[in-house]
Amino acid sequence: MWNWQVAAQSAWRRCSSSRRRNCPPLAAQLGCDLQSEGCITTDSSKQTTIPGVFACGDCARMAGNISLAVGEGALAGVASHRSLSGLLQG
Ligand SMILES: Cc1cc2nc3c(=O)[nH]c(=O)nc-3n(C[C@H](O)[C@H](O)[C@H](O)COP(=O)(O)OP(=O)(O)OC[C@H]3O[C@@H](n4cnc5c(N)ncnc54)[C@H](O)[C@@H]3O)c2cc1C
Repeated sequence: MWNWQVAAQSAWRRCSSSRRRNCPPLAAQLGCDLQSEGCITTDSSKQTTIPGVFACGDCARMAGNISLAVGEGALAGVASHRSLSGLLQG
């Protein structure tokens, strides 16, 4: 592997992990379960283990990707609306 590739991967991991470290303190304060990697545990509707609390994007997924973060944001938004309307199970 070329040296610049190693450097780029290292920089990516540092950025990603430093972003991810911002997530757990608030989630932990709320009592949300965290995965071993530090990501917030969510179900398929992006609800955390605390009912009414939702998480999406990098804080709830190991793979950092804009498209996934945007899509999950939409899912979480719809699910939180359903939760407030009493329509979300679980
Ligand atoms: C260097 C780098 C390059 C990347 N390149 C690509 C790429 O080419 N393609 C791709 O698909 N993805 C790329 N990614 C990944 C992509 O940027 C992320 O997956 C995406 O931005 C995640 O969006 P997010 O909304 O979950 O988090 P973020 O974009 O990190 O947004 C979280 C926001 O919450 C704010 N915040 C944090 N804590 C608090 C708090 N307590 N109160 C209020 N606000 C708070 C932060 O300031 C931030 O603005 C890259 C990431 C990095 C680091």
